[in-house]
Amino acid sequence: MAQPAKEPLLIVEDDAVTRRLFETVAAGEGYQVHACEGAENGWEVFQQHNPRIVVLDWLLRGLDGLALARRIRQHPDGPYVTILMVTTQERPEEMEEALKAGVTYYLTKPVKRDFFQAWLAAARKNSEDMRLLQQHQEAREKHRRELESLNAQLENAITRANEMAAEASRSYIEVNQIFKTVAGGILLVDTQYRILRFNEAFLRMAGVSSIKAKAAKCYEVFPSSMCNTPGCPIRRIKAGEEAVENDIERPAPDGGTAHYHVLATPFRGPAGDLVGIVEHISDVTSRVQAEKALQESEQRYKELSILDELTGLYNKRYFNKHLTPEVERARRYGNPLSLLVVDIDNFKHFNDTYGHPPGDRVLAAMGKLLRETVRLNDLACRIGGEEFAVILPETSGENALKLAERLRRKFAALEFQPQEGVTVQKTMSVGVAELETDESTEELLARADGNLYAAKEAGRNRSILR
Ligand code: GH3
Ligand code: MG
Ligand code: MG
Repeated sequence: MAQPAKEPLLIVEDDAVTRRLFETVAAGEGYQVHACEGAENGWEVFQQHNPRIVVLDWLLRGLDGLALARRIRQHPDGPYVTILMVTTQERPEEMEEALKAGVTYYLTKPVKRDFFQAWLAAARKNSEDMRLLQQHQEAREKHRRELESLNAQLENAITRANEMAAEASRSYIEVNQIFKTVAGGILLVDTQYRILRFNEAFLRMAGVSSIKAKAAKCYEVFPSSMCNTPGCPIRRIKAGEEAVENDIERPAPDGGTAHYHVLATPFRGPAGDLVGIVEHISDVTSRVQAEKALQESEQRYKELSILDELTGLYNKRYFNKHLTPEVERARRYGNPLSLLVVDIDNFKHFNDTYGHPPGDRVLAAMGKLLRETVRLNDLACRIGGEEFAVILPETSGENALKLAERLRRKFAALEFQPQEGVTVQKTMSVGVAELETDESTEELLARADGNLYAAKEAGRNRSILR
């Protein structure tokens, strides 16, 4: 069995006899003894072998024993070394000086063998205690360093947490401000339709209290036609849409109907998971009302209008409205009244061949021709797509036929360029009728229509009076 390594022990003693005695005793006690002369040698050996028990003479060559003791105490292991000092000095103030220099035990020369033995035994005990103390202190130091590092980490974490809390509270304030100052209503709803947040504007639009809104589902406090349909923004955003817009109508808080534009976008958690939706609700009631009013006034304007835009002639409504009064007036005053019904020949073919815009130019040309040819009292009207009528007060059938023929010839002479390099001339047919005694408006019109039909039947490009 291998012997455990012997403990090193240092003896620094200039006197050879004493050194020899100490050496023998210490070796007998089982130490690995390093014995030397002179303080400098002693310091060398101490650093080399790291002994925990050192026996020193006060009076040494070079440094004295006290100076060496002080130097040993400065060494990292120095505090745990047991230093025995032998000396001839025995005055109390000297003993005190030695203890101050770090000497553990103090023994006056001459030293007897059994004294030295007892002394070494005490030193061994002290040295073991010191070793334990060192271990203990080293462990404590290690522990302290660990604690320090943990503390530093903790401080960092707390600083970060504080910064995050400050940032969060800033964001909270900002969000709150946005919620308050934004013009529209804002509503946060989770995927289960539960209301998470809302602003004052939303409460006003929904006409509910904050307490009621907090406990409710969105369809309970702000129901609309999109609830429970595939148009529901929550459903659509759950299905993957990024922005959903809807226009809805609801009873306005102060009566009447309110119109809202609702823009819904996904509301995501920190991990990007879908928490719910954010709805931004704008009150567009006044815009919708203005649009409606505009539409209505446009409609009214159209109804009130009397002219056909394309041809500049009176429109069909105007014709219908004025034919009967003209008939009645003619009858009252015993004046003749005639009617022309004009239809462009084979116009469908022209349209089909060259398209609608060239067709429109033909119609516009017909309008111009009629306007320029008829008299001031005559009413030239567009009564259908390519059908026209002219009411001719105080005009006999014979004169009406003359007018019809003049118009027909003039029209047939017009040249149109529906396409680059293509010149086309168009013709028209006319039905002419003079009001007969006791004839109604409808009968007059039917007769003129009949004559037009006859003109078409007879081969077109002609006027017929019957
Ligand atoms: P018919 O000689 O028998 O009158 O034959 P048509 O082709 O002229 O008569 P039909 O009633 O079959 O077709 C009338 C065509 O007039 C149909 C359409 O292409 C055209 N038309 C009607 N209104 C407009 C319009 O406002 N602009 C244009 N470009 N074409 C129109
Ligand atoms: Mg026609
Ligand atoms: Mg026609």
